Parts: sequence; C-alpha cells; structure tokens
Amino acid sequence: MGGRDLIFPLHPAVCARRATRDDEVADLLALLLAHGDPAAGPPGELERVALTVAVATLGDNHLWQDLQLGSRAELSALMGRWFPALVALNAGDMKWKKFLYRELCRQADILICKSPSCAVCTDRPLCFGPEH
Ligand code: SF4
Repeated sequence: MGGRDLIFPLHPAVCARRATRDDEVADLLALLLAHGDPAAGPPGELERVALTVAVATLGDNHLWQDLQLGSRAELSALMGRWFPALVALNAGDMKWKKFLYRELCRQADILICKSPSCAVCTDRPLCFGPEH
C-alpha cells in the first residue's frame, strides 16, 4: 500500500494501542477501503486517510474527537469525501464509531445489537444522537 503513514498525527496513546489491536485496525482499514473513492484525492491519499480513521477508532472518545476534528459534522464531511459509500450506508446518521463496528460485526455475522431494529432499541441514544 502506498504509504503506511497517517494523514495527520494522532495522540500517541491511541497509536500505541496498535501494538495489541492491529488486527482490529486491519479489519477497519479493509472496511474503509472497500467503500473508498480513490478519485477523492491524490494517489495513496485514500489509504492514508483510511489508516488514520482506522487507528483513531481505537481511541476512547468520539471518533471525531480522536481525529482531532471540530465536530461530528466535520467527520461526516471527511467520510463523505473519501468514503461516500459508507455515508450512503449510514443513512440514519449513526455515530461513526458505532457504525463502523456494527458493519464489522455484520460482516462477521456477529449480532451485537440487543434489538432487531434500531427504531425500537433501548440503546438507540448510545448509537445515535448528539456527540458533545
Ligand atoms: S440502536 Fe440498538 S439495534 Fe441499532 S445499532 Fe445501536 S444497539 Fe444495534
């Protein structure tokens, strides 16, 4: 892959988690790249953006916070530019970290949700709703 670098630096504590969770990064990276738009930027840039998002997903905060963005809207704009197919899949505007992990679980046929439908799920506020 062209350039294993991050597109911008992340907190060292988040990056350090790759030591034990790099298989998770690989899965997230594959999910992102499978839905990426190579025409969104210069060659190799998509891979760097995807890796940055995948590593930041290991953080404890909202994904937009661990990406050091200003808001979830900024993250949604980034996702819309580089991963438009994921934005189309996340039509309900689920929180991005929740959405990415739910997609991984769906691919692996693992049911993490308590409810068959988000509309009637008691965890809905955790998966959707504002992120402050
Ligand atoms: S709202 Fe409930 S059903 Fe929907 S993704 Fe979250 S946990 Fe799963």
